[in-house]
Amino acid sequence: MISRGGSVKAVAVHMFCAPSRGWLSSPPPLWAGKGGEGKRVCRGFETCNTDKIERRPARRYPGAMGTALAESNGGGRRRWSQTLRRLVGISLDLALPPLCPACREPVGAQAGLCAACWSKLSFIAPPYCERLGTPFAYDPGPGVLSMQAIADPPAYRHARAAVRYDDVSRILIHGLKYSDRLDLAPMLGRWMARAGHALLEDADALVPVPLHWRRLWARRFNQSAALAKIVSQASGVAVVGDALKRVKPTLQQVGLTASERALNVQGAFAVAERSRVAGRRLILIDDVLTSGATIDACARALNRAGAATVDVLVFARVVDTGRSPI
Ligand SMILES: [Zn+2]
Repeated sequence: MISRGGSVKAVAVHMFCAPSRGWLSSPPPLWAGKGGEGKRVCRGFETCNTDKIERRPARRYPGAMGTALAESNGGGRRRWSQTLRRLVGISLDLALPPLCPACREPVGAQAGLCAACWSKLSFIAPPYCERLGTPFAYDPGPGVLSMQAIADPPAYRHARAAVRYDDVSRILIHGLKYSDRLDLAPMLGRWMARAGHALLEDADALVPVPLHWRRLWARRFNQSAALAKIVSQASGVAVVGDALKRVKPTLQQVGLTASERALNVQGAFAVAERSRVAGRRLILIDDVLTSGATIDACARALNRAGAATVDVLVFARVVDTGRSPI
């Protein structure tokens, strides 16, 4: 199920539409209801027709040994090719079984988190602060804001996160960000799409938080853009990747206090082309939200450029303020 390369769509559709298969990393389906009478449409993908999806060719990828081999309607040569690929896949499954991305324990035929890590992951669900998306210990009623949102309102309208920033989510984020584990992006992105489905219903475009070109050159990819791509596939909301630019190289936020983080990103972001954001309902996409300084700086830049609304969707957010930031 975790992929690197062109097979994301075919497998992701199947996961998204068939949680009954019991894959641990598969979220419940989100039905958009845009398919007309008697026809359900899986959000952002296509008609939820299992047979059609199964016939689509899918490329093999390293995160799911032997589980995504293609089936197609080709001739003899293609059948031979597929048989060979199937044999290679089975051999790889036996030699290199899929591992849990958090604890590296074998997880059997279907890649994803193991049961132990899955149970430790803390998904954020209502009740939560309407503005910040921070969970409440009890349900105070609809639309209630947290004290933090009232005392220090952010530049964005709403923020939502898939999970709390904890030991398991930290490993997943660090794997994606610092260990080139781009194969984790589909799993994390789908969880984000589920957490932010209400925001995505009204959004015009997704804006990944940009890296400065020097950091992008060193890392070779922007993890926020990788997540935005998956959220876009799951929701049908387009990505505007070059709307926002990081015009000032900043220090790593790791280890800085909240005030130092705010100072660090001051003036760091600018809108490249106002016409791409003006009047549009935007969602900023990032991997993690800690103090909110980076996201707030991005939201202010988009607001100054005339965005209609700016919301935020991240994979994980720090909820316990006593916890050390990443
Ligand atoms: Zn595990």
